[in-house]
Amino acid sequence: MSIENLVRKNIQALLPYRSARDDFDSGILLDANENSYGDPFGNHDELNRYPMPYQEVLRSKIANFRNVGSEHVFVGVGSDEAIDLLIRIFCEPKEDAILITPPTYGMYKVSAQVNDVDIQRVLLTEDFQLLPKETLAATTDHTKIIFLCSPNNPTANSLNKDDIIKVIEGFRGIVVVDEAYIDFSEQKSFSELVKTYDNLVVLQTMSKSFGLAGIRLGVAIASTPIIEYMMKIKAPYNVNKLTSKYAIQAFEELDAIKGRVETIIEERKRIERVLAQMPAIEHVFPSDANFILFRVADALNVYKACAEKGVIVRYRGHEPHCENSLRVTIGTPEENDRFLQVLQEITTN
Ligand code: PMP
Repeated sequence: MSIENLVRKNIQALLPYRSARDDFDSGILLDANENSYGDPFGNHDELNRYPMPYQEVLRSKIANFRNVGSEHVFVGVGSDEAIDLLIRIFCEPKEDAILITPPTYGMYKVSAQVNDVDIQRVLLTEDFQLLPKETLAATTDHTKIIFLCSPNNPTANSLNKDDIIKVIEGFRGIVVVDEAYIDFSEQKSFSELVKTYDNLVVLQTMSKSFGLAGIRLGVAIASTPIIEYMMKIKAPYNVNKLTSKYAIQAFEELDAIKGRVETIIEERKRIERVLAQMPAIEHVFPSDANFILFRVADALNVYKACAEKGVIVRYRGHEPHCENSLRVTIGTPEENDRFLQVLQEITTN
């Protein structure tokens, strides 16, 4: 498949901004209108200097970790930046469309709306699985990107691998598989499949399993033409120095990170068991992520009552197939105990 032909004409023709750091990053640097007197803190971060535009060191750490080459890796300000860039590369405003499979993550829709791009929808089944045939049949010549999310937010389950493959193989456009929660999942990441499928983009993030939501570091893994276009249109210095410093350091802490992921999964299993035994809980949906979706009568009021007692969960009852459903993130054992206690009090009164 020719990725080039899918790209908007103005983006194909674009000459990217060349930053001073593209050419030289050592010597007497009087080329970027920085402040040569240093940052105000006097430590070793050199925050008076712009960061590396292409983040080679961080990208190679991520590439190593996900078993792909650096040329397959883009880093941005959260995966939300990657979602927006992909829509801007492939979707002509007022003309093209993305396809989403609700209930799913809300930013695909918001990013499309910001860019004045249409949204087509094919609902997941009641047990939150893809309908590959119906999904492909709903696409038109103007459908440029299909967004799939696995494990899916807010439902927490993974999509069937073969169904995802059917969509990737059957669609003559871009298929994004958002794997924000992949490290909590029993499924294998799709990241290595970018070597096989030119039209596949895998999104990941350091906000969840790595415990670094505050640094805003998102990842896109894709075939090289797609990565090159993302590099071409991103803001020159999108990932800042403090973010890349902590993101690189995180790869020295992989054992600790993996240990916490295991603890979160154990806690998830415990909460699933306790919820399943509570008479008021009508259904606990299977989770492959760091949160659980469950159904409880009068969910909106349960949500409000939880908040009044200081435990904040998310009401998802307005999403298709999610009537009376709440989404709870797995916390520390103490936080989880308190959540379960509050929920028990509210639903037995
Ligand atoms: N994708 C999914 C499915 C998410 O749930 C989230 C965060 N809630 C994101 C992407 C965004 O992640 P980031 O913090 O990297 O922007």
